[in-house]
Amino acid sequence: YTAKQKQSGTMVYHPGLDAHSQESLSLLSELRRAVEHNELRLYLQPKVDLHTGRILGAESLVRWQHPQRGLVPPMLFIPFAEQTGFIRTLTTWIIEQSARAWREMYAHGLDLRLSINLSTRDLLDQDLPAKLEQLIKTHDMNAQVLCLEITESAIMDDPQRAQQTLERLHELGFKLSIDDFGTGYSSLAYLKRLPVHELKIDKSFVMAMERDLDDAKIVRSTVDLAHNLGLRVVAEGIETAKAWKLLDALHCDEGQGYFIAKPMPEQEFVAWVQAWQAPVLDDETLE
Ligand code: C2E
Ligand code: MG
Ligand code: MG
Ligand code: MG
Repeated sequence: YTAKQKQSGTMVYHPGLDAHSQESLSLLSELRRAVEHNELRLYLQPKVDLHTGRILGAESLVRWQHPQRGLVPPMLFIPFAEQTGFIRTLTTWIIEQSARAWREMYAHGLDLRLSINLSTRDLLDQDLPAKLEQLIKTHDMNAQVLCLEITESAIMDDPQRAQQTLERLHELGFKLSIDDFGTGYSSLAYLKRLPVHELKIDKSFVMAMERDLDDAKIVRSTVDLAHNLGLRVVAEGIETAKAWKLLDALHCDEGQGYFIAKPMPEQEFVAWVQAWQAPVLDDETLE
């Protein structure tokens, strides 16, 4: 991240940042201010049914509209937020905003699912299920419209506790998804035991599958694995018509990626969905 920091003149996050240093303290206070002063933004990236092209939902992705640095991507503050525990405040913010956005979309006649990313710390937060339960009551929404995305590494950090939290969330009716599948060290034994309903194939495999046969094989095997376990499977990182078509041919259920749309400010989302027409993926499109 060094180049970026120099460019914007101020430190954001770098992997070696000492949590107790002066830099860290000021970043933490900036993040607190960001929440208080409404500098965080909810972005939404659509998820489509790869077979019909229908929009099924969206993933909630956070951005920081910094007064001096401009739009800061999550990778420049999420790892820091996780390291310091601030992620809980951030997760609360994102789930509240997602619920509010869901309500607004519903009022516009859209009945979509929203996916929210949880971190390791969130999984260890004993109050999270109760917080989420309260949230859906407040917003009068059904738990199953929210899908919670968890990475393999977040689960493997403390598998037993993660499993307890996931069981509780599942009992409450929330959908659960394993994010960035294939990049972590998950154990298939856990995968079998966990009450998840979806696997998300990491974008590194999807973006490489057109030119690398091994990546294509990994994608194919993951789709089969998911289906054999009775799970839905989603591909992230679809950047071309060809990738879409290939994934559909492999029976991958859903997809998201720049070819469909980049994450956009929530204010643009309803109009985008209303204007959406699934592309016709004939051979000409693929030339
Ligand atoms: P993720 O959960 O795997 O989210 C997907 C990321 O892939 C997003 O990056 C999205 O913009 C990007 N992406 C989607 N399609 C394409 C594509 O076709 N090409 C390319 N090159 N990229 C694509 P983003 O928004 O920068 O987020 C990065 C990561 O930051 C997320 O990865 C997630 O791990 C984390 N993150 C973002 N928002 C939140 C949040 O609210 N809470 C938590 N805990 N983590 C978040
Ligand atoms: Mg995700
Ligand atoms: Mg992902
Ligand atoms: Mg990813």
